[in-house]
Amino acid sequence: MHPKLTDDLTGLPELLTATRDAAERALTSLDTRPVAARARASGAAPMPATGIGTAGALARFEQRWAPWFSGSAGPRYFGFVTGGATPASVAGDWLTSAYDQNAAAGGDSAAIGLERETAGWLAELFGLGAEHHGAFVTGATMSNFTGLAVAREWLGEQAGISVTDAGVGALGRVPVLSATPHSSVYKALSMLGIGRERLSLVPTLPGREAVDVDRLAEALEALDGQPAIVVANAGTVNTVDFDDLRAIVALKERFPFWLHVDGAFGAFAALSPRHRALVDGLVEADSVCVDLHKWLNVPYDAAVQFTRRRDLQVAVFKNVAAYLPPPAGEPDYAHLTPENSRRLRALPTWFSLTAYGREGHQEIVERTTALAARLGRWVADEPRLRLLAPVRLNVVCCTLAANPTRERVDALVRAVADSGEAVVTPTVYQGTPGFRVAFSNWRTTESDVDRLARALDRAL
Ligand SMILES: *Cc1c(COP(=O)(O)O)cnc(C)c1O
Repeated sequence: MHPKLTDDLTGLPELLTATRDAAERALTSLDTRPVAARARASGAAPMPATGIGTAGALARFEQRWAPWFSGSAGPRYFGFVTGGATPASVAGDWLTSAYDQNAAAGGDSAAIGLERETAGWLAELFGLGAEHHGAFVTGATMSNFTGLAVAREWLGEQAGISVTDAGVGALGRVPVLSATPHSSVYKALSMLGIGRERLSLVPTLPGREAVDVDRLAEALEALDGQPAIVVANAGTVNTVDFDDLRAIVALKERFPFWLHVDGAFGAFAALSPRHRALVDGLVEADSVCVDLHKWLNVPYDAAVQFTRRRDLQVAVFKNVAAYLPPPAGEPDYAHLTPENSRRLRALPTWFSLTAYGREGHQEIVERTTALAARLGRWVADEPRLRLLAPVRLNVVCCTLAANPTRERVDALVRAVADSGEAVVTPTVYQGTPGFRVAFSNWRTTESDVDRLARALDRAL
């Protein structure tokens, strides 16, 4: 064994303690260090020929890189939709690496039993039924990809074609309909060979990001019986608008389509009795995408995808080799997801759900939505700002009251980041440049909203 490896093996307990201490410094400084990292000039170092051991690597990391890492796990990072990591999920994440299970197949480990249990808990959390089977993937992009891959196979089934064998070319042009799809849906369509241009944008309701269901019905009618994929959006990124899932589901009686719902963060409305109606009908979806590293507050990277046609999912993702058991009975995850070898990505979620239960995660959702409403009221009362949309759930989308040019809004966003107090992200809503403030971190409290308001006030 290389002497550095021998040293580390012998000194493992001390190394783990030193790493624990470094993690503690990272987590306890989240509230005080700048939320956005300062720019860092130094370039890449040469590849080390002689290693310096784990203790040396830890010291070098803390010297060369850690000070310039983002405070995005903290309570005032309001950019994109960014979750932090609950203490239980960090514990689960550490142990994922320590146990280093390959959650591809069972046989010699209970790991995939734990993933199945956790996926079942998540289905329950989002009000899905027992016919929805879940699997962990790396993020909502891969969750959308996986759901749409099953949709593609379903289109083949309607045409009497096996797309997995014949290829997507056998399908001809695939109609995909959506009103306000996330960018990752286009990426998934590209990866699936369906093509980004196959997505037709259906008009929204006036002044909204939610689909106009009558116009969707017209678009389906125009297909003249050709089966399609409908991507419904349960929580758009800009204004957290929700398609009327019940009304879309009702169209299934008239038109053949696969209903994929992108509920990356909006599905969490199901946890709050006040907001649950927003995702009414989710249970009828054919496939559902939910991110976990956003509002569940587990570390990157984790999302879950659900489908009710596991037979088609296995047709797409089965991985057949002489030394692997064929998919039978309860299929192994290697036959259900893009990956073969897989991290036990379910463990941080299992820890967080076990530690805080439904009620703890409901509290996170309810508190953060109340905080978004609080900031929304402040913006509404602030004469130099105006809301671009009502605050429906956990995002405030707003802009300058007067002359909201890209340059002026970007300058405001930059000034807030430079203050070290908070991060918000620029956007464009219905042609108007603005910015978004998204609440999803478990640590955020009223005092963080007030600190953001003060930072905005100073920067305006
Ligand atoms: C974040 C998000 C995605 C993509 O998620 P990743 O985790 O970045 O892959 C897809 N859809 C919606 C609605 C999102 O908010």
